[in-house]
Amino acid sequence: MQNPEICREIVRQLWPFLDGALPDDLQARVSDHLAGCVNCRSHYDFERAFLEAVRASSNFGDEFEPLRARVLAALAAEGMSIP
Ligand SMILES: [Zn+2]
Repeated sequence: MQNPEICREIVRQLWPFLDGALPDDLQARVSDHLAGCVNCRSHYDFERAFLEAVRASSNFGDEFEPLRARVLAALAAEGMSIP
């Protein structure tokens, strides 16, 4: 049974974690937590797949730009940002 307070904190760190933007100790803490928490792991899998899709879309031509803009706008509405 995971402490929901800790899970909330971990989920908040997922975007910077995926970017490798966290300090090493936090990066390790999130990584350890994900290894043992199915709930946070599902958030992580979703966000990682999402991020990869967004990044992949930037490798295509301008025809994908409207989609990318919509995805980024949707993320911004959720309070998230992709550097
Ligand atoms: Zn958790």
